[in-house]
Amino acid sequence: MQVPIYENILKSNDYLAEENQDLFNRERVFVVGILGSPGAGKTTLLEKTISALKNVNLRPAVLVGDLATSRDAERIQQHGIPCAQLTTGGACHLEAQQVNKALKDFDLKTIDILFIENVGNLVCPTGFKLGEHIRTVVFSIPEGDEKVEKYPATFQKADCIILNKIDYLTLQSFDVEKPKREAYALNPDLVWINCSCATGEGIEEWINYLKTAREKRLNENG
Ligand code: MG
Ligand code: ZN
Repeated sequence: MQVPIYENILKSNDYLAEENQDLFNRERVFVVGILGSPGAGKTTLLEKTISALKNVNLRPAVLVGDLATSRDAERIQQHGIPCAQLTTGGACHLEAQQVNKALKDFDLKTIDILFIENVGNLVCPTGFKLGEHIRTVVFSIPEGDEKVEKYPATFQKADCIILNKIDYLTLQSFDVEKPKREAYALNPDLVWINCSCATGEGIEEWINYLKTAREKRLNENG
């Protein structure tokens, strides 16, 4: 029987993702994948996260995936932390091999938590593991409350969902309980956080979640 090409690509990607994760575990770097549509606020959330992590003595780094520009990486670099840019040349998701190559730009011994911001896209990044320990999906009030219903696979595989721009609720009708209910039906174990990078709502909760998830993972790895 012939195995479809797509399936083979995913298999070799999964293998490389496992190699990445072995490396992260050896170096005790906790890795967080960030997924979301363009404009959901992924980079802004990372900027807020970087500042907040400094207060809890965790050293962050960011790997930014983007179609064509280095705009997001430049924003992150202004915060004075290790940051590398992966330009996919138009490809709509990151792959484990690209991440592995980009890791050479980092001194992993000086990093406690590495964020990998994927290309803005709620569809195919889901299928490609990168070696991350947890996945966070960011979506926002202006995108509408039907996102979970429309992209169930992405939300099902998320460990944490950030509903961003919660301050827009005053401007727009959006039923917060609807996507939340749908997401928990797909994955009862997920963590849901209402967040606003403008007002700071939810940031502390997010940082506490990251700290706890990191400690749990480090303990598991001995
Ligand atoms: Mg971005
Ligand atoms: Zn893609």
